[in-house]
Amino acid sequence: MNTALEVKDLRYRYREGKEALQGVSFSVEKGECVGLIGPNGAGKSTLLLHLNGILPDPLPRESSIFVNGVPVLPDSVHSVRRSVGLLFQNPDDQLFCPTVYEDVAFGPAQFRFPEEEVRSVALTSLATVGLEGFEDRSPHHLSRGEKQRVCLAGILACKPGILVLDEPTSELDPRGKRNLVTLLRTLPTTKIIASHDLELIVELCPRVIVLDGGMIVADGETRAILSDEALMLEHGLEKPHILRHLHPH
Ligand code: ADP
Repeated sequence: MNTALEVKDLRYRYREGKEALQGVSFSVEKGECVGLIGPNGAGKSTLLLHLNGILPDPLPRESSIFVNGVPVLPDSVHSVRRSVGLLFQNPDDQLFCPTVYEDVAFGPAQFRFPEEEVRSVALTSLATVGLEGFEDRSPHHLSRGEKQRVCLAGILACKPGILVLDEPTSELDPRGKRNLVTLLRTLPTTKIIASHDLELIVELCPRVIVLDGGMIVADGETRAILSDEALMLEHGLEKPHILRHLHPH
């Protein structure tokens, strides 16, 4: 079984109002790295929050999500969260412990890794994101880029098979971004990356999904889709500079 994620006819309406997802279907094979792009309000974050069962309302009858073949339902959420590591768009939504170490160790401790392993995996993950020596700092007194990296360390520490990243470079400086690209390249996990940073998407994701108005408007080869200027403009996007010489077929 090689499918990591399968989303079928996903619809979601926030209580206050409009339908944020209007029948989204796609699947992702194990090991794929898929970009998710679209204008503000397209439904990207709403979609990503569904992938590990964060949004609590029951799905409409016609909608379903499978993670490694397991349907995401209230009683499978615990195992789904082990498989899917979700980096929130806003690091402040993810950090809640008094120290960086506790934040990074929280996930593996919850998943009942043995105590020694929790410690070693937390320290290794901090080193992986370039934050050795930050263990005793308060997450609330860090820069936003450092906070974002602490969140990522906390996710890596849980060793998820599927990484879901919502705007992972929004707070990073160029060096932080370069390090993240290198790190993500070396990770063999399945990845879904939502970003407005189209150069990042071109660099990391051979496939891209374009979402607009809660619907998938394109799904395919990144370079072909991102170099289609008419399509990009129609959906509030722009052909990235690094593809300026490429013309769609
Ligand atoms: P994106 O991540 O692509 O910018 P979102 O998933 O955040 O899009 O938003 C999709 C739509 O759902 C938007 O119209 C947004 O205003 C609405 N929305 C997002 N979060 C909430 C919320 N908590 N309550 C009500 N509406 C929301």
